[in-house]
Amino acid sequence: MAHADTLASPMLAPWTGPHNGAPPFDKVKVEDFKPALMAAMAQQRAEVVAIAANPAPPSFANTIAALEDSGRPLNRVGALFGVWTSTLNDKPMQAVEQEMAPILAAFEDEVIQNAALFTRIQAVYDTRETAGLDPEQQRLTEVTWRRFSRRGAALSATDKTRMAAINQRLATLSTTFSQNELADEEGYQLTLTDEADLAGLPAALVDGAAAAAKAKGLTGQWVISNTRSSMQPFLTYSTRRALREKGWRLWTLRGDNGGAHDNNAIITEILALRAEKAKLLGFPTFAHWITDDQMSKTPDAAMALMMKVWAPAKARVAQEVADMQALADVEAPGTRIEPWDYRYYAEKVRKAKYDLDESQVKPYLQLEKLREGMFWAAGQLYGFEFVQVHDLPVAQSDVRVFEVRRAGRQIGLWYFDPYARAGKSSGAWMSEYRAQERFAGETTPIVSNNANFVKAAPGEPILVSWDDASTMFHEFGHALHGLNSNVSYPSLAGTSVARDFVEFPSQLNERWLPTREVLTRFALHYKTGEPMPDALVAKIKTAHTFNQGFSTVEYLASAIVDMKAHLAGSTPIEPRAFEAATLAEIGMPREIVMRHRMPHFGHIFAGEGYAAGYYDYIWADTLTADAAEAFAQAPGGFYDKPTAKRLHDDIMSVGDTIDAGEAFRRFRGRDVTIDALMRDRGFPVAA
Ligand SMILES: [Zn+2]
Repeated sequence: MAHADTLASPMLAPWTGPHNGAPPFDKVKVEDFKPALMAAMAQQRAEVVAIAANPAPPSFANTIAALEDSGRPLNRVGALFGVWTSTLNDKPMQAVEQEMAPILAAFEDEVIQNAALFTRIQAVYDTRETAGLDPEQQRLTEVTWRRFSRRGAALSATDKTRMAAINQRLATLSTTFSQNELADEEGYQLTLTDEADLAGLPAALVDGAAAAAKAKGLTGQWVISNTRSSMQPFLTYSTRRALREKGWRLWTLRGDNGGAHDNNAIITEILALRAEKAKLLGFPTFAHWITDDQMSKTPDAAMALMMKVWAPAKARVAQEVADMQALADVEAPGTRIEPWDYRYYAEKVRKAKYDLDESQVKPYLQLEKLREGMFWAAGQLYGFEFVQVHDLPVAQSDVRVFEVRRAGRQIGLWYFDPYARAGKSSGAWMSEYRAQERFAGETTPIVSNNANFVKAAPGEPILVSWDDASTMFHEFGHALHGLNSNVSYPSLAGTSVARDFVEFPSQLNERWLPTREVLTRFALHYKTGEPMPDALVAKIKTAHTFNQGFSTVEYLASAIVDMKAHLAGSTPIEPRAFEAATLAEIGMPREIVMRHRMPHFGHIFAGEGYAAGYYDYIWADTLTADAAEAFAQAPGGFYDKPTAKRLHDDIMSVGDTIDAGEAFRRFRGRDVTIDALMRDRGFPVAA
């Protein structure tokens, strides 16, 4: 189907060369992105029009498969575009992104809104069970139909117009919401004017506060910014209780200060529009529309899980508060633990109970040794071998490429881009450059892991924290999900699974870091080469359940309020009153505030990202804990071959070709239960 003229740009051409072909990172020119993207869209537009106008009766082959095979040049240039916007986003690239983002979004809408195309998809969907399709073809038909119908492809012309107006208004409101949140993070700050105000603060925090003050032209003062990365450590370490209270109030009132940047009215409108949108699409509430496409299937299932964990988490909070109160009674008699005291006393309890210091752990965690450890564990589980190759182009000279092999045969490529630099997004993530597939020829997956480690001096190893080491295993878990994929159609490959399921393989992969086998081989002291001592490993494991009452309750309170707000339907929501009533109803402990109060709950209001879906984290964690126990209880533990084979066959290789609940059932031999999660967090398990 390729049109020779539109393939003039090397960014659109098929990926050729050694190692089953790879992205032409050496051929990318920022100024070529726009013309290449426009040409790629034009080509897919022509393909889609041809599919929609096909005079032959609709069939899987001429409609669903043809659509699946369309837009290949757009996928290729899109992969390059994604690498540049996330890791090489300088000013010229930002300008291209700003210009192209709405054009790309509009093109997606154009395809979805093509009525003739959807009529054909509907026809194939209606006959999917009788047309002789194999299970994966049936699944692809359902997934494609769902993708279109969930976005309103089946609506009448009038309803489509209303839907477009709603989406447009929602986009504006979301942008305003996040700008207001940012305004209250930048517009309020805790200014410390006296050296005594710094009592208890670690040196790094003091330095940061001094630099922040200097940037604002304040001399001899210190500024604690109203952001999580500044306020949370301040609340943890400041011994000045009145200042903690002041900082806590600034932090928890973001978006809720009245005036021009107040988010309350915006939330009311967003929730009303979402409720209307769900109704148009045929669902009772927005929460029903969201969960319909998830493993949970219904808001009730998600709520039921959250409420099961809620009671024991609350009970655990009572124990944590008692531990803290005992310390406070000694240190500051007459103090009753308030929300601005929680992090502060929790840190004291942590030191007293676990005596675990980050500086003891770090010397054993060398970035490159951990990478070898990830490779080794993946070798044990999936038979993978990773061999670095030097004959492929990279987007930036620090990026390394590894060919992934199983039984001597190449099954994919893994790119590793570990270092921070200007123009790179913060945090760590996995990207997929090319999905595995075989319906239009055998295609191996190409994935990457990206992080922001600061480069060490030449010859020195990079030492990372335990949390960062876990994150490496986590992101590598997403990569393994992509690499293990063994399906026919790219839309069903690898990590293209339900949102409340996708974090399960990655969270599960974190569980191999603390295994004896990995630690004794790869957690080696950077000077002595000695493995991490057993006593230290034991400390890390015991400290694992520390403060789980607090973190579970602050998270669940937000997730429950999110779900209930999106279950309210057309009932207008006044956020302050709604929040207060919901928290009272579930008995929120008075010592804890929601992790995200509604006026600054960007996950759910700065876009649809986690709307009615903040529960995803605990949902995936429930699967993770249960699956981890399957390994822990197997004869070979985390390296048990039959269990690893089931994980591969039922979870890691199947992508979205089967329902997530069914996939888990096949792996575990039963439905997921919450008992393992409770044990994992140190909560009592109901008899
Ligand atoms: Zn993840």
